[in-house]
Amino acid sequence: MKWRNKKGQFVKGHKFPSSQIGRIGYWHGKKRPDISIAHMGAGNPMWRGDKVSNAGLHLWLRVNYGNPKKCEFCNSKNEICYDWALKSGLQYERKRENFLRLCRSCHMRYDYKNGSRAVYYPTQEVKEKIRKSVKIYVRKNKKKEG
Ligand SMILES: [Zn+2]
Repeated sequence: MKWRNKKGQFVKGHKFPSSQIGRIGYWHGKKRPDISIAHMGAGNPMWRGDKVSNAGLHLWLRVNYGNPKKCEFCNSKNEICYDWALKSGLQYERKRENFLRLCRSCHMRYDYKNGSRAVYYPTQEVKEKIRKSVKIYVRKNKKKEG
């Protein structure tokens, strides 16, 4: 049973075994208690000093600085999603100044610009394939209708 640790706490991000799937319904619409946040800090086995994973760092940001609904780029305050974004050229470190609080659209734009999110440009060949498959799809559906 790896989805719970020795203390019986839920292991974050672990898949539930099929035998437990029926129990997930219990959490439907409810806010899960974030056990890992409550136990964060030095002395905790989860604490890995400066060599924290990106996920651990984002958690650290959330615990220490919350989830402010404000974008440091466009100053919007009513977007649905805000993220902690790593400043371009800086490392994932436990430093507030290494991060920016951005709305989702500014975050995407920022990441594309500094190359940390690859942009996919389909080649001419791929475009042609897509066009053909769309044509076939349309033809098939027309036949069904007729
Ligand atoms: Zn923004």
